[in-house]
Amino acid sequence: ALTPDQLKALVRTVPDFPQPGIQFRDITTLIGDGAGLSASVAHLAAMAREAGAQKIAGMEARGFIFGAAVAVQLGVGFVSVRKPGKLPVDVIGIDYDLEYGKDRLEMDPGAVSDGEQVVIVDDLIATGGTALAAVKLLRTAGARVDNALFVIDLPDLGGAERLAAAGVDVAALMD
Ligand code: IMP
Repeated sequence: ALTPDQLKALVRTVPDFPQPGIQFRDITTLIGDGAGLSASVAHLAAMAREAGAQKIAGMEARGFIFGAAVAVQLGVGFVSVRKPGKLPVDVIGIDYDLEYGKDRLEMDPGAVSDGEQVVIVDDLIATGGTALAAVKLLRTAGARVDNALFVIDLPDLGGAERLAAAGVDVAALMD
């Protein structure tokens, strides 16, 4: 099994993407490595099981990669939290602020049952804006959301604190 340091070494840092001054943490290299991908999924799945996940929700698109794999490990269903205009049914949606600009997430309100324990999985938490939007959507649909899991936390950006204030515990494989 890979150590946390070996896992971290598989993440590529790309300077000045998507704009000057941003250090983009790229998980393409991590998921391209068989041992790295399976160790990441195994660790996330153990945390999701511990949290009592009855379903996993992932945000398009990188959250789909890890989230679906974790759901398979647990034998639970997967909820797609999507970018606008993708789902073929009536959706609930939420607009939220990004560091520069705005974005929107949508989901099928029938994708969760009332009181179902849903654990969120995504590749990375920065300000927590994306994850918080997903929490609000899932709760609107009737889910209980107490945990969000990430491959990478950028702790200086305060996402974990923001989610904690909404009653969501954040855990990540690396900072
Ligand atoms: P937040 O909403 O500020 O927490 O940003 C997190 C969202 O933006 C997640 O969906 C990430 O996939 C994406 N993101 C932000 N920064 C990075 C990065 O450095 N690498 C990969 N994804 C990022």
